Amino acid sequence: MPDTPADFKAFRAMSAHLGQDPLRVQGPGGNTSIKQGGVLWIKASGTELAEAETREIFVAVDRAAALAEAQGLAGDGSCKATVIDKALTLRPSIETTFHAALDWAVVAHTHSVATLTHAITHEGRTAAKDKLAGLPAAFVPYAKPGLPLTQAIMARTTPATQVFVLENHGLIICAANVDATTTLMEEVEARLALPARPVVPDLPDTAPPEGFVWAAESWIARDPRAAALARAGSYYPDHVVFLGPALPLGDHDGQPPAILIEGTGIALRGRATASQRAMLRCLSDVLARLPADWTLEPIGAEAETALLDWDAEKYRQALAARS
Ligand SMILES: [Zn+2]
Repeated sequence: MPDTPADFKAFRAMSAHLGQDPLRVQGPGGNTSIKQGGVLWIKASGTELAEAETREIFVAVDRAAALAEAQGLAGDGSCKATVIDKALTLRPSIETTFHAALDWAVVAHTHSVATLTHAITHEGRTAAKDKLAGLPAAFVPYAKPGLPLTQAIMARTTPATQVFVLENHGLIICAANVDATTTLMEEVEARLALPARPVVPDLPDTAPPEGFVWAAESWIARDPRAAALARAGSYYPDHVVFLGPALPLGDHDGQPPAILIEGTGIALRGRATASQRAMLRCLSDVLARLPADWTLEPIGAEAETALLDWDAEKYRQALAARS
């Protein structure tokens, strides 16, 4: 095991802080990394940033080897073979390649609700470009997490780029050290902040379907616009990974964790995992911040299918389901 970086303690504290804020990271989403010498420390797949100070969630990989995977010169983009300690059973994050490719000491990737709300709508992306004016920011079109996303990022980065708005996905901040990463991220969050509309938190007074409970996010089903958007599509990858495409209007063979009962509430399967619950809250947090005149752009069925057929994602879901 290589030596940990000099500011690893501050890095872990930053990571935990991001992971514990549901407006930045939901469940096992998001990932952070820090480079020192030829070693890249990256969050392991399926672990949670929230636990960055209480568990060993980071795995050391050979940065040059991970960079070669990012450039398509070696491996399959999973970076499994780049782990330095071969005895470790943890796999590096499925997003390791972009961490290796970005030439900054610290890289922090979140599924920021404020960023997501901008990045899933045409009007929001235009607004975000104005709000982030003067910052070294780039906008990256949607691509499947893993090598396709890394390649889309690489096509739009310059040596100066430190802020990436990932359309229909989230935010990446890069900087020379932990403090500078936090400062820049807070600046971006402040500029993109959107007020949450007050929602009526009442639960339906009817009994939920058998095996389900009413979710705290039931307001979505009683708000005609929010309900229409929730059933119409999926807007970012982790929604699909943890809740399946969109929100179904009834139970089915796939045993969806959450069902939208229009006009009434959202039924949450009794055994829904913490990650599934976190993703339902994320949808509620996004829809409550969505300005009335912004038009949502779903990722589409092809992207949904690609996410659900993916072995690495199944592995991540399986790990997350145990927590
Ligand atoms: Zn992500």
